[in-house]
Amino acid sequence: MGKLEGKTAVVTGGSSGIGLATAKLFAAEGAFVFITGRREEELAQAVRAVGVNVQGVRADVTNPADLDHLYEIVRTKGRIDVVFANAGTSEMASLEDVDEEHFHRIFDVNVKGVLFSVQKALPLLNDGASIILTGSIAAVKGAPGYSVYGASKAAIRHMVRAWTMELKDRGIRSNVISPGPIDTPVMRRQPRDAMAGILSAIPMGRTGRAEEVAEAALFLASEDSSFVTGIELFVDGGSAQV
Ligand code: NAP
Repeated sequence: MGKLEGKTAVVTGGSSGIGLATAKLFAAEGAFVFITGRREEELAQAVRAVGVNVQGVRADVTNPADLDHLYEIVRTKGRIDVVFANAGTSEMASLEDVDEEHFHRIFDVNVKGVLFSVQKALPLLNDGASIILTGSIAAVKGAPGYSVYGASKAAIRHMVRAWTMELKDRGIRSNVISPGPIDTPVMRRQPRDAMAGILSAIPMGRTGRAEEVAEAALFLASEDSSFVTGIELFVDGGSAQV
């Protein structure tokens, strides 16, 4: 019997990288999984990659109407046990180069998108549900060019502290997974010199795999973490720990 047998999960940014690996694992563990992303073709490919117990819904997390549409579709299936608000974006800009567009591109997806992905799920969430956000070691480590990105991830780390208190009477747990460098398309888009610095600071001497983050998400989604709430679980090869 799978660890998520009979559960329903929503994974935003489920068409690629960490979200896709997690959707595959959740489905393999018995959950029905809704995955989202903006690009239709990538989403369709991801649905094929997950195989069974999956439905793709095109939705931009920065667009409240898209999120309403997502949860209208989810509602036809029933209630939700796991929300993995994972869609995120990353780009570098030094303090000198930050402009309003950079700020909004990052905060709209990583903070506003996460907040409303969870808020709009609330009416469908079962008591005892698990909310998981994808943070980053950038929230606790200073790296040149990542001030806005790091601040966005620090913001959502705070949100789970507040939600832990707000939702405790419903037994809903909220946690953050903070990956270090994981080999996914978003990481491959980072500038080579920035990556060299990041890689040299990983105690385990390698980047992580999306599947390793998915295992942490499964822990937080399942009964294995029944007494775990409000935490930040680092999956970072030790990068932010030394
Ligand atoms: P990825 O492979 O590029 O996947 C990002 C996913 O998010 C895609 O499915 C993408 O689909 C979706 N997405 C992006 N913007 C969206 C939007 N506005 N609305 C809906 N979906 C959106 O990257 P990843 O590495 O798996 O990243 C997942 C999360 O991990 C992010 O929150 C990222 O900040 C975090 N993270 C990653 C690393 C790393 O090293 N990889 C480290 C720390 C934290 P579309 O583009 O089609 O919308």
